[in-house]
Amino acid sequence: MASQGPVNPSHAMFDLFVQAQTCKDVKHHFTQLCRQLEIDPKDFGSFYAKLKERLNYWKAKALWTKLDKRASHEDYQQGKACTKNKCLVLGAGPCGLRVAIELSLLGAQVVLLEKRETFSRNNVLHLWPYTIYDLRELGAKKFYGKFCSGSLDHISIRQLQLVLLKVALLLGVEVHTGVEFQGLIEPSGENGWMAKLQPRSHPAAAFQFDVFISAGGGRFVPDGFKHKELRGRLAIGITANFINRHTAAETQVEEISGVARIYNQKFFQELLNETGIDLENIVYYKDDTHYFVMTAKKKSLLKKGVIKQDYNDAEQLLAPANVDYEALCNYAYDAADFSTGGGLPDLQFAQNHAGRRDVAMFDFTCMHRAENASLVKERRGKKLLIGLVGDCLVEPFWPLGTGIARGFFAAFDAAWMVRSWGNGVPHLKVLAERVYQLLSQTTPENTSKKYAAYSIDPRTRYQRVNLSAIQTHQVQHLYDVEKTH
Ligand code: FAD
Repeated sequence: MASQGPVNPSHAMFDLFVQAQTCKDVKHHFTQLCRQLEIDPKDFGSFYAKLKERLNYWKAKALWTKLDKRASHEDYQQGKACTKNKCLVLGAGPCGLRVAIELSLLGAQVVLLEKRETFSRNNVLHLWPYTIYDLRELGAKKFYGKFCSGSLDHISIRQLQLVLLKVALLLGVEVHTGVEFQGLIEPSGENGWMAKLQPRSHPAAAFQFDVFISAGGGRFVPDGFKHKELRGRLAIGITANFINRHTAAETQVEEISGVARIYNQKFFQELLNETGIDLENIVYYKDDTHYFVMTAKKKSLLKKGVIKQDYNDAEQLLAPANVDYEALCNYAYDAADFSTGGGLPDLQFAQNHAGRRDVAMFDFTCMHRAENASLVKERRGKKLLIGLVGDCLVEPFWPLGTGIARGFFAAFDAAWMVRSWGNGVPHLKVLAERVYQLLSQTTPENTSKKYAAYSIDPRTRYQRVNLSAIQTHQVQHLYDVEKTH
């Protein structure tokens, strides 16, 4: 039988865009769609409105309804709160994309830079109920039908990036991949703040902006920000991904949404007795892959030959040269097999971005968090508001699954700050308002349950937040202005 696909070419292109499963395909189909509809995606101010007008397709309309509902929130002031602002966002991880969406809803021009060309992280993120609600409201289910169906509360990092990339593009965010941010260029002559990029001749190098949001991940600290180290007990995390063939047998195996040693001594003792594997905790999620994250004890990693030599320094201990990859694969495999009661037949590793078996070991002994979330730089009378979101603000401990929920909170907080900036609130007041240290204590329990009322306004999410608690003189050090002689 002939397929019943749409006959209108733009409808077919929209379908391809919605279904695209790689970053490259999303961008390609988006460009084709824009060409077909004769809309310039750089025309950010009216892009979404033109798209809606020209794409008269029921599937698209269902999405517009969702996005229009979000855009109609009073916080965005009908998309006019930040029409004069130009924002550079660094990083197309989930948090960079999420904040870019909010900034475009505020009416700002948003350019997003990402050094990678692909979204390749199979690892799975735990979502808090509000994050699920938020993503559904952005149309996640239209892009990814399996999104959090039933009681599922997780998504792979790459799927989440794909969903957010599609929304960002539809709302007029200019996304550039394969371009590395190498630092800020101070204003000179007629030029305002710009970015030093690799490749140097990249068109985005000419973009001048008054807001810079860094969502560059855990290791990226923009100039002027200081990171605090939180050193804890040695904690070695292992992640592993296995191919999910979605067979009936695989479907029946139960997920492990987090078992910690203190709650199930028997399980961990049996694991140790039978396999020699000694864990503090383990999580198993069934998603595009079978994903496991566990915290392993050093002694057992040494005994099983995963770590070759013992060192006190965690960095030396986990240096690639000190890790036996084959033994690590066996360790992760045995832990996965035992914890699922041997119920996953024919366990086979999925591949990572480098085409190797997707298993990795990470050090969580030393976690970083930024000392402050924002600052303002001023040179030649031109002010630049800089904010941090996501892992570069607070690095998460993955087995606890707090990262993305807190990352999205930070994205909303940053958007609220940019809104004040756009509304002409004096810069020290903008900085003072952004100083609330609640993020790393937030849990699903101590945040508001009224998810439908959540917005970029922090007061709708945190239960106790006082935006006027900090006085402007207390944030003077976050305002970096050149001395004039
Ligand atoms: P990221 O997702 O790290 O995104 C940062 C982006 O910025 C990246 O795409 C990076 O390429 C880009 N970037 C960095 N520097 C530059 C530059 N100079 N120029 C241009 N682009 C740049 N969390 C879990 O809960 N469970 C897990 O199993 C898990 N596994 C992970 C595995 C890896 C390899 C990594 C890096 C992170 C993992 N995380 C995991 C953390 C989780 O991915 C983050 O909490 C979440 O993605 C939100 O992070 P983010 O958007 O702030 O940063």
